[in-house]
Amino acid sequence: MRNIVKYSFWLFVIIVIFLSFKELINNKEDLGAKGSEESSPQMVEKQNDETIKVVVDPGHGGVDPGAIGASGSYEKDFTLDLSKKLVALLENDPNLEVLMTREGDQFLSSEARERPNFANDLDADLFLSIHANTYSDPSVSGTETFYYDQNSKPLADTIHKHLVNATGYNDRGVKQENFFVLKDTNMPAVLLEIGYLTNPQDEQKMMTDVFQQSVAEAITDGINEYLDG
Ligand SMILES: [Zn+2]
Repeated sequence: MRNIVKYSFWLFVIIVIFLSFKELINNKEDLGAKGSEESSPQMVEKQNDETIKVVVDPGHGGVDPGAIGASGSYEKDFTLDLSKKLVALLENDPNLEVLMTREGDQFLSSEARERPNFANDLDADLFLSIHANTYSDPSVSGTETFYYDQNSKPLADTIHKHLVNATGYNDRGVKQENFFVLKDTNMPAVLLEIGYLTNPQDEQKMMTDVFQQSVAEAITDGINEYLDG
């Protein structure tokens, strides 16, 4: 009988110690959960909200060379080289997710609307189509920016302002045009005609890394100003 009392006492002590420990652990877990509720999940959510998807679309490609320059250069090569420099700059911004419609010399079907579909499927926030111009008169020079939807005009205006400064070419203005890449995209979209490859002096300049880098920086400045505004 004395043994039973003794065992019961020790069993009681062990249960009390066990329950105290459990309480202590539960409290710690609660604190931990509260701590993370107040900081990390909200921060992650905020970051996701702030991520802006930018699609850079190098014009033409593959069997479609685009404009042929005064010395025989291809617009498709200019647009890809410039786009790669632009993407490299934009990728420095952790708030931007940057994607290209093509990363090599590849043909994208206009009939299948591959370029706007790419941006729409990604639910992109901005779409930039990079081009160079062509004209029968080799003396024609200048930079122009196109948009279609009225919602895209502020983006077009802001980028164009920086772009014209960088190229130093004639300001041919910001114009509304129903190019399919602008019309069929669901987000603010612009098409940049950087300069005329058919103008021999301009073509020479446009093919240099220095010129392309300064144009890429100008477009980046324009995007940043648009996003901050
Ligand atoms: Zn073009």
